[in-house]
Amino acid sequence: MATLLRRSWRGVQQSFMIMRPNNASHTLVDSSRYASSSHKSAIFTSVGALCSTAALLAAWQSQVVSDEAHSQAEVSHKSALKPNEWISFKLAETIKVSANTNIYRFTFSDNEKLGLEVASCLLTRAQIGHKSDGKPNYVIRPYTPISPPDSRGYFDLMVKIYPQGKMSSHIGSLKPGDTLEVKGPISKILYKPNMKKNIGMIAGGTGITPMLQIIDAIVNNKDDLTKVSLIYANISPEDILLKEKLDVLAAKNPNFKVYYTVDKPTSDWNGGSGYITKDMVLKGMPTPSDDTLILVCGPPGMMNHISGDKAPDKTQGELSGLLKEIGYSKDMVYKF
Ligand SMILES: Cc1cc2nc3c(=O)[nH]c(=O)nc-3n(C[C@H](O)[C@H](O)[C@H](O)COP(=O)(O)OP(=O)(O)OC[C@H]3O[C@@H](n4cnc5c(N)ncnc54)[C@H](O)[C@@H]3O)c2cc1C
Repeated sequence: MATLLRRSWRGVQQSFMIMRPNNASHTLVDSSRYASSSHKSAIFTSVGALCSTAALLAAWQSQVVSDEAHSQAEVSHKSALKPNEWISFKLAETIKVSANTNIYRFTFSDNEKLGLEVASCLLTRAQIGHKSDGKPNYVIRPYTPISPPDSRGYFDLMVKIYPQGKMSSHIGSLKPGDTLEVKGPISKILYKPNMKKNIGMIAGGTGITPMLQIIDAIVNNKDDLTKVSLIYANISPEDILLKEKLDVLAAKNPNFKVYYTVDKPTSDWNGGSGYITKDMVLKGMPTPSDDTLILVCGPPGMMNHISGDKAPDKTQGELSGLLKEIGYSKDMVYKF
């Protein structure tokens, strides 16, 4: 955490920090990683409203001191998660990243790590109403953390809120201090450095979350030479989640490139327009080969168009759509 904070502070000219006074350990966030440009001003305003530069500095300094003391203390390698037990995690902070999507930071003891494999997700559970027999009705949904897999003391979920969605609107209603029940992790594809020479990713909306886990694992490991290309589809430029983070990663890492397409382009938009086409896949994805893996994650309509959706029993199902048409085989494609 100290490293994260030092990096945040050093980058303060490009970054903004958000502070809430009640939980100093987990409330300083390098929001340039998260905020789309349209929301920067809102975040900046809230920073101004919440704290002065002096208060930020004091909080940051006390955090570094406590982290240094902490690093000298016994640090457990225990995971905060349990695969078979629902554990309540406290919400510390919410950050708006687009009109309908927020990042939620949940916290636990700094002595524990999250302990995820890349790539994996978590299950969330909430009691929403009652069944006809009067027993509690539980809603369970998976979400993919976008924080580092070994983060100590916190994890971040990026959740799109559907007004009629049971779990997403429940998460959307949480206030700092409220808790959410979580169980996991649930392993998806097990990523190993250099397991393939080329990885292509096709994501829509919040389908970016599992891709981010893998992109971060690759670019943070200098021995991993995998080339990654991402096609990321959204409704409008405003809806592109974590665009600044993706752009910075692409600028800094020659082995990562990203191409955006939006259904509703603005007049100054210079990415792709409309749904993902065969031409975009041909130009943007590595060619079919034993050394190629294509990862797909997005809403059902996009999945059907690109690769066919997963089977009803959640196994991979048959490959269809554009990827099949272009000549990829089932074993070259993974559907999240
Ligand atoms: C492995 C996995 C990881 C996931 N990770 C994330 C994540 O990191 N972030 C995230 O936001 N979501 C993620 N999801 C989706 C998430 O689990 C829920 O399905 C989603 O939040 C909707 O749940 P809900 O209970 O709010 O909506 P529900 O009550 O299930 O649905 C109500 C209505 O919401 C709308 N709706 C629901 N889901 C979709 C959708 N995908 N596309 C379009 N409309 C929809 C529909 O109109 C639907 O009728 C993931 C899903 C899987 C399978």
